[in-house]
Amino acid sequence: METRDFVLELFERTGGYLRGHFLLTSGLHSPEYLQCAVVLQHPDHAARLGATLAAALAPLVAGRVDVVGSPALGGIVIGHEVARALGARCIFTERDAAGLMTLRRGFQVRPGETSVVIEDVVTTGGSTREVIEVLRTAGAQVLAAGSIIDRSGGKADVGVPRVALATLDVISYPPEDCPLCRQGIPLIKPGSRR
Ligand code: ZN
Repeated sequence: METRDFVLELFERTGGYLRGHFLLTSGLHSPEYLQCAVVLQHPDHAARLGATLAAALAPLVAGRVDVVGSPALGGIVIGHEVARALGARCIFTERDAAGLMTLRRGFQVRPGETSVVIEDVVTTGGSTREVIEVLRTAGAQVLAAGSIIDRSGGKADVGVPRVALATLDVISYPPEDCPLCRQGIPLIKPGSRR
């Protein structure tokens, strides 16, 4: 089975492939949404996705990654599993009171360490770019980035080579021209709250 098919089948089987009427962060409306946390709540699925992502990254990292960095909260579980598969440390960034991505909790990166940045879903690549910047400021060399899902259709540019297990062109409609709105289906804002 192709990686993309195996990944989407996993979302389907665990109930993480939501169908309905969703408000995306872009403001567009969509009939479907992939909720990674639903799949990642199963440690065996998380481990398999992490190992698959690590294998996809292998050609880009020449077998040497010291540390995997992820944005909290969404990136932590998959980042941890990729780190396990690569034999690397796993750290994550959080936003401080001013909203800036930062390393806390005693996490340290030494100058010259090699790293990859892992997220659950890339939409615009903004969070991945922020984590890359944090790691570079700490002196790390960021070799590549990866995600389970790419919702940008492959278009997100994070400034380093990037891989995703499933690249999607998300079906979306502007609110004023949305067939789901016309059918009166309630609009749901997915993400951390649903
Ligand atoms: Zn709508």
